[in-house]
Amino acid sequence: MIPPEFDYAAPESLEQAIATLSDGGEDAKLLAGGHSLLPLMKLRLAAPSLLVDLRRVPGLHGIERDNGSWRIGALTRHAELEDTPELGLASVVAATIADRQVRNCGTIGGSLAHGDPASDLPGMVLACEGSVTVQGPGGQRTIAAGDLFSDYLETTIAADEVLTEVHLPAMDGYGFAYHKFNRRREDWAMVAVSALVRRDGDGCADVRVALTNMSSVPVRAAAVEQGLLGQSLTAESIRAAAERADEGTDPPADLNASADYKRHLARVLTARALMEAAGLA
Ligand SMILES: Cc1cc2nc3c(=O)[nH]c(=O)nc-3n(C[C@H](O)[C@H](O)[C@H](O)COP(=O)(O)OP(=O)(O)OC[C@H]3O[C@@H](n4cnc5c(N)ncnc54)[C@H](O)[C@@H]3O)c2cc1C
Repeated sequence: MIPPEFDYAAPESLEQAIATLSDGGEDAKLLAGGHSLLPLMKLRLAAPSLLVDLRRVPGLHGIERDNGSWRIGALTRHAELEDTPELGLASVVAATIADRQVRNCGTIGGSLAHGDPASDLPGMVLACEGSVTVQGPGGQRTIAAGDLFSDYLETTIAADEVLTEVHLPAMDGYGFAYHKFNRRREDWAMVAVSALVRRDGDGCADVRVALTNMSSVPVRAAAVEQGLLGQSLTAESIRAAAERADEGTDPPADLNASADYKRHLARVLTARALMEAAGLA
């Protein structure tokens, strides 16, 4: 399908991009990798009057480690995350997104700003308790991952703000795993689970579990985390805790899976991801 007509701008600075976006009003949209927005436009589910392309804006690329945290530029491609294994969970998660062609175009900033609960990176950022920096006409602010996703395809980033950076704690000393269930390797997740575990001997010193596609936003499996924290890490304790993975979720039924089946998947995948993250797989 051919998208509706739109104006196009490719500013050469962040300030220019923010001003152009702001002047364009509510119907102006940022363009990053275009791999979520352009399909929506071609299906005529989105019809922005102006696209503000970020590709010429300097300073939005790159992955850098500064002491205990990673700074990832918003325009960093999924393939670059995949090719940086030092990132741990982020790299493993990025490698599961679609195929290499999509991963060469899609950006972490676009994925987080799009706010699709079936996307892979939002759950990872939530599990790591990361944050994003956004900049708008009023200046810069930081949004914690837990406050970023507000509803299906909605975030707390204002229409005239640009997501510039993603910050992830390095999670040194944590085991990690990502278990994604889909029909074909390149499909979106029916359900996926990000897990991080820090051991203290046989005990669980810290645990993070985030669920993909189990609600209108990515969610933490709080009951699982509470059930495992401070406990011995055994196959039995993990299975028992994982039985509560779907508590407090509201999975949307779709063509691939009923809500009940997604609940079942969440329990099974959480157990598998935790076993791997705890080194028991
Ligand atoms: C065939 C196919 C399969 C896919 N499979 C998967 C999959 O399995 N898992 C998965 O997670 N994703 C998948 N995707 C989506 C892909 O990862 C997208 O690239 C990603 O979700 C959006 O990133 P983008 O850079 O392409 O954003 P764009 O499409 O350019 O933008 C998406 C939205 O975010 C806004 N935006 C973009 N950048 C910024 C910014 N810096 N600040 C503020 N707002 C911004 C745009 O205005 C737009 O509303 C798939 C896409 C395709 C086409």
